[in-house]
Amino acid sequence: MSISGSVKAFEQAQSLIPGGVNSPVRAFGSVGGTPIFIAEGKGAYLTDIDGNRYVDYVQSWGPLIFGHRDESIENAVIEAVKHGLSFGAPTQAESDLAQLVISMFDSIEKIRFVSSGTEAVMSAIRLARGFTNRDDIVKFVGCYHGHSDSLLVQAGSGAATFGNPSSPGVPADFTKHTLLATYNDIESVKKCFNDSKNIACVIIEPIAGNMGLVPADKEFLHELRELCDANGTLLIFDEVMSGFRATLHGAESITGVKPDIVTLGKVIGGGMPVGAFGARAEIMAKLSPEGPVYQAGTLSGNPVAMAAGLAAITKLKKNAEVISVLNERAKRLVEGMQQEASACGITMQIDTRGSMFGFFFNEKPVKNFADACSSDAKLFAKFHSMMLSKGFYFACSLYETGFISTATTDEMIEDTIKASAEVFKEIKNNG
Ligand SMILES: *Cc1c(COP(=O)(O)O)cnc(C)c1O
Repeated sequence: MSISGSVKAFEQAQSLIPGGVNSPVRAFGSVGGTPIFIAEGKGAYLTDIDGNRYVDYVQSWGPLIFGHRDESIENAVIEAVKHGLSFGAPTQAESDLAQLVISMFDSIEKIRFVSSGTEAVMSAIRLARGFTNRDDIVKFVGCYHGHSDSLLVQAGSGAATFGNPSSPGVPADFTKHTLLATYNDIESVKKCFNDSKNIACVIIEPIAGNMGLVPADKEFLHELRELCDANGTLLIFDEVMSGFRATLHGAESITGVKPDIVTLGKVIGGGMPVGAFGARAEIMAKLSPEGPVYQAGTLSGNPVAMAAGLAAITKLKKNAEVISVLNERAKRLVEGMQQEASACGITMQIDTRGSMFGFFFNEKPVKNFADACSSDAKLFAKFHSMMLSKGFYFACSLYETGFISTATTDEMIEDTIKASAEVFKEIKNNG
């Protein structure tokens, strides 16, 4: 398999764009090698600019639950384009998508659309602060909520729960209001509430997908809800990734825990740039122009993006069985790979939620970010590059979740398992 075209394209891109990419993880930094430049996608397949074809388990990092170039989404976009790309004025499609999403999420009575997940979360945090008149927020180490200032915080060393910025350019003054807790560890959250009486909200990925796939324990989420209630703090479920992927009705529907605010993205735009945040009407009423909390966007609720989202979510609602059908396939995929790994003396931790799947090369179950970090990164890098050269496109970081789409067939999954068996044997024999 030659990727000489991608090598050349990447060289040019690096001379023009920092790192050659417009979002860092695409650069293959953690697994080495050259990122594949894509010429086109169709169904479950990607074709690169050298003409190689791959089974795609990334699906644009989540949005494409119906695979590439789904006919109904494509047609909806083409139809919308013919009426104009953007108006900066209201269109019916915004209310149609709003109504659809509200009908599927119990805790959303009103919703606002933005253009990315980052923007959705950033706005939700501002809303929570404005609603509670408090400044501090709690986030969990290993959860990703986009790249806005106050959320770009990782574990500081030592006992301090107040976070340090994880990127230059983020003033410590901005992140001193971000307290850090450990995923699935309620004691660490209690400590935050002891340290601050000024906590506006706790934000969590109820099904974490940005440290690999690490779902929160139900019991933990229930205790989190109780703590928030006891302290007058809002609970935000960041479902930018898990929304419409793990279930059609939010993590609330499988955990029984009701969030105050939900953030959405990825699938909700059907492949176009859309994010959203929603809550009960009382909270959303604080938002400008109804209330004093300012939030805006020139391209928010863009008609072409709304058309794509509307087509995707309409199709999902009509085919509700999709989630469980995809879950069966996702399970088969990771269970099959786990079996093949085990036959070669390699231990794999696996999990699935709907069409999301995750695996770690780790002896122990993974419950939080520290556990995820104890996984075998070198083994993952080998697995990634060998699977890629066999035509299977997995996310290029062990901290990412995998996705299957309705275009991913049982046969593709069996082929993937067979290829993984060859890879594990080669790793076992050649180290
Ligand atoms: C992807 C993601 C975001 C950020 O969304 P962008 O559209 O990349 O800005 C936020 N939260 C979670 C949970 C995500 O997975």
